[in-house]
Amino acid sequence: MRMTRYFLPVLKENPAEAQIVSHRYMLRAGMIKQQAAGIYSWLPLGYKVLKRIEQIVHEEQARAGHIPLLMPTLQPADLWRESGRYDDYGQEMLRIKDRQGRDMLYGPTNEEMITDIFRSHVNSYKDLPLTLYHIQWKFRDEMRPRFGVMRGREFLMKDGYNFDLTVEDALHAYNRHLVSYLRTYERMGLQAIPMRADSGPIGGEDTHEFLVLAETGESEVFYDSAVTDISLGARDIDYDDKAQCKAVMEEFTSLYARTDETHDEAAFNAIPEERRKCARGIEVGQIFFFGTKYSEAMGATVVTPDGSKVPVQMGSHGIGVSRLLGAIIEASHDDKGIIWPEGVTPFHCGIVNLKQGDDDTDAACEGIYKALQKAGLDPLYDDRNDRAGAKFATMDLIGLPWRITVGPRGLKNGVVELTSRRTGESVEMTADDAVARIIEIYAGH
Ligand code: ATP
Ligand code: MG
Repeated sequence: MRMTRYFLPVLKENPAEAQIVSHRYMLRAGMIKQQAAGIYSWLPLGYKVLKRIEQIVHEEQARAGHIPLLMPTLQPADLWRESGRYDDYGQEMLRIKDRQGRDMLYGPTNEEMITDIFRSHVNSYKDLPLTLYHIQWKFRDEMRPRFGVMRGREFLMKDGYNFDLTVEDALHAYNRHLVSYLRTYERMGLQAIPMRADSGPIGGEDTHEFLVLAETGESEVFYDSAVTDISLGARDIDYDDKAQCKAVMEEFTSLYARTDETHDEAAFNAIPEERRKCARGIEVGQIFFFGTKYSEAMGATVVTPDGSKVPVQMGSHGIGVSRLLGAIIEASHDDKGIIWPEGVTPFHCGIVNLKQGDDDTDAACEGIYKALQKAGLDPLYDDRNDRAGAKFATMDLIGLPWRITVGPRGLKNGVVELTSRRTGESVEMTADDAVARIIEIYAGH
């Protein structure tokens, strides 16, 4: 993309309404525009990152064997009357009447609808296991929408639902989700720690939230600092291997890590004092095993191998796709702007022309731009006729991890400059080498 043809409405001033850094930078970098409290337009730069995050989620869901579909945002109230949640959900649910007077709602989540799809089409154990998911907009009429996309009213969520014959199989689905979520977040350059959350009907093990540590997080968390030393990395995972998934789940959840809802002072105090941490975190996902809660209420049964009929075992698993943009920025920025991890950056590399209109620098920039595109990468070329300082400030604000700077002085010596946004380090090299280096960096992403 050429900057002169792009739509990047960068703000010079700090917007007064933004209380936290991610919200401030998302507004300043022209990524979002608020349209009503907690409701945003996604401007091109923000939309690009949103799509990158979605893409990673889809890829990791596919790897785990989960199947995408798409359910609507508007749902009939009757489904929710079957589960009893229509009345329970309270004011967070946006209720609408259509012209026929039928009660509708803007879905805050989809357990009822997916259970309805399941019961309409599946009735045998032979069709199990099955995990269906979608990435769809949700609406929750939050009491206090704030912090930009972190706590919106309309927000994008990946929500997935597993259907299994036995509790054992459903717990495997739970573990499989936990492992696939770890990989998903790591690909986004995030450490998201599974923490035991409010326990449901089956006991303590049946729900974990994933938290990114950040001072601005809304959850209070307590953990053993040793959990921050483990990562999934490039391990080979066989998602059908129950024992392997269980072992990874145990590795990541045996150390103490809990939100305030389940915090246990005595267990916490048993950790060596220097490892006891109390901090704040951003919830970027949650996995849940709830057994037959919805299948029983809604009559979603399957025939077992011995011919009897049982309600299907279920769980649901969510990732806060739009909230993740905020979480990533909270975890990765400096006083000049955002620092995107390579996995989610809106453009792979910025190109700054220090002397627009100069035949040599123009030609060198064009060459780099085309070479990167030819390699399947997505560069952003700042071809504006502007001061170098202004171009650098924009690049730093929008946070592309790599920048190639091209100026007449360097070109005389046959070099351009490759700069890392994260470290600020610059290295001089030929344009060809800079392009090769960028290609190499992204080969793993
Ligand atoms: P919270 O406790 O933050 O209100 P939740 O536990 O009600 O969230 P879930 O039902 O678990 O949310 O939804 C799955 C994921 O969707 C959450 O982990 C979070 O990342 C995201 N999410 C929930 N509510 C919002 C919101 N209002 N704005 C943006 N993302 C949200
Ligand atoms: Mg939650």
